[in-house]
Amino acid sequence: MKIRLARTISRIVWPFPVGADRRAARENGARSGPSGGRALPRMRPQLILILAILLLLFAATLAHAQGFFTVVDDDAASIDAISSIEAVARARGVKICVGVVAARVVKDQQLQEKLLEYQASGHQICNHSLTHGIGVWTDCDPDAMEKEIEESRAILERLGFRQTDYFIYPFGCFSEDQFARIFPVVSRHHKLALNSRGRYNLPGANAYYLDRLALRKMNDLSMVKRVIDAAWKDNGWIVFLTHSGIPRDFDPAYVGQVMDYCLSMGMKSCTLEEYYRLHGDAFVASAVIDEYSAWDEGKDVLYLNLCKQGWGVLGLALVVVSVMLIKRRRGVRPR
Ligand SMILES: [Zn+2]
Repeated sequence: MKIRLARTISRIVWPFPVGADRRAARENGARSGPSGGRALPRMRPQLILILAILLLLFAATLAHAQGFFTVVDDDAASIDAISSIEAVARARGVKICVGVVAARVVKDQQLQEKLLEYQASGHQICNHSLTHGIGVWTDCDPDAMEKEIEESRAILERLGFRQTDYFIYPFGCFSEDQFARIFPVVSRHHKLALNSRGRYNLPGANAYYLDRLALRKMNDLSMVKRVIDAAWKDNGWIVFLTHSGIPRDFDPAYVGQVMDYCLSMGMKSCTLEEYYRLHGDAFVASAVIDEYSAWDEGKDVLYLNLCKQGWGVLGLALVVVSVMLIKRRRGVRPR
């Protein structure tokens, strides 16, 4: 029985006659003509079908979405800060974006030169407002916002930065009402604008309120990988937010691990400008956003720290249970 099964399987896998089959084939061949020529190997249709299905499956995985990723480092706090993330990116052939604050960069010539050098090597320098003041964006005074953007773009362009029509909101997370007033101003001057919350972007997302996943070194790498997996599966665009100038938030090795993971998944790295040229038309310009509440933010923080939180919750549960047990023992102890 086993032999018959093995033979059936081997016939499907290997179409050419073997053993007894080969002898039978030879005899058939001898009978088939005076030349006694060898029978030609016969390709089984089942095998062709299996091969065709495998090829189709392989083609489907190749055609599957790969996703894109972009790293946007905020603030250009110092040469040391931006050099640390640039080194991580350069080692992997990744081009990053740096959001600069015009009023700060205009006062620091060495920083300007470093940023121009990065721009020449393919990195993108974006507009991160004139002063980085939050009041302009929470008060939503149209004149103040207009002035902030016009002046910052004028300074950056005068310094030689070419792609200043990409805006990184300072403290980029607004209420629905605030955004409705911010949108007309920001959209007039920019191709895309990015907030500082959420996970990844899909076609149909708001071009002036694109999500960014904050890469904080305290975040659980395994949970960040889950978000990357989801972006890859959905053929999404994941934009990472980093703060190279805040040591408690930023670890170059951690950012390198995240980049390595994206690249190992076959995701393509790109700047904002590169993505806009490829897929910018997939986004919509809208004054409407969903409110991102403190509750939503709490859920995101919890999600990105789920494994660590899990151990924390377990530890807390053990403390509670042990305290209860101790109390109970004391309660039954004879006096
Ligand atoms: Zn900032």
